[in-house]
Amino acid sequence: MSAGRVALVTGASRGIGRGIAIALAGKGCKVAVNYQKSASAAEDVCGIIRSNGGTAAAFGADVSSAEGAASLVESVTREIGAIEILVNNAGITRDNLLMRMKGSEWDDVLRTNLSSVYYCTQAVIRGMIKAKFGRIIAVSSVSGLVGNAGQANYSAAKAGILGMIKSVAREVASRGITANVIAPGYIETDMTGILPEDAKRAALSQIPAGRYGSPDDVASAAVFLASDEAAYITGQVLAVDGGMTMM
Ligand code: NAP
Repeated sequence: MSAGRVALVTGASRGIGRGIAIALAGKGCKVAVNYQKSASAAEDVCGIIRSNGGTAAAFGADVSSAEGAASLVESVTREIGAIEILVNNAGITRDNLLMRMKGSEWDDVLRTNLSSVYYCTQAVIRGMIKAKFGRIIAVSSVSGLVGNAGQANYSAAKAGILGMIKSVAREVASRGITANVIAPGYIETDMTGILPEDAKRAALSQIPAGRYGSPDDVASAAVFLASDEAAYITGQVLAVDGGMTMM
């Protein structure tokens, strides 16, 4: 990784995004830590990065809205510099069986998990084309690869990311910009912490590695895909799932 690259990680106040932000900063990136509600957690992430000698700043913004994403990118560019690495990580779940799923549960999940990727990626792409360099990473899920009962909304959003990122990868491949997807399996964060114990046990039985993943497992993949060394890898989907979905 070339030192001093500017990275924006959406949803970096907690969980996987937090891990990615700290790991990118550890490789010398200047990191914009985006959050929506958890301002003090985002400041804590910046504090950890600074205490390790890195550079970070927190930016509150709702990336599920076009205005929120656009103003986030504008603020980061003004305060830190042109964004060279974008990690589209922010996400939510609103699980329900399809027959009970409310329109708001569908809309909120599609907006936060899929439209946000469109908004943020569109907001950075012109600058990356001008710079002839860019790394776009989107955090999908194994649910987007194989589906998951109770997650029709979430799986649709996460599968949508695949089609979108592969299309963007084709549009900008000749401009020094890569676009790739990470599909985590079961990672221990607040998102999975709320699941019932029997669902956690059932998930574990499906993981050949015999353990849940950690945010650091996902962060290692993100650091690689963001690196200069990954220049010839684009339009790919990298599952970080302990073997859960191997074919
Ligand atoms: P998490 O612990 O619940 O953290 C979610 C993060 O997203 C928080 O930082 C939250 O910020 C942020 N966020 C949510 N809505 C936002 C919005 N509208 N604008 C800006 N930020 C927003 O979740 P996680 O487990 O780390 O998940 C991170 C990503 O990985 C998600 O896309 C998720 O779907 C995906 N994933 C997770 C797993 C897993 O097993 N955990 C598996 C596969 C994929 P605030 O707290 O500030 O609101």
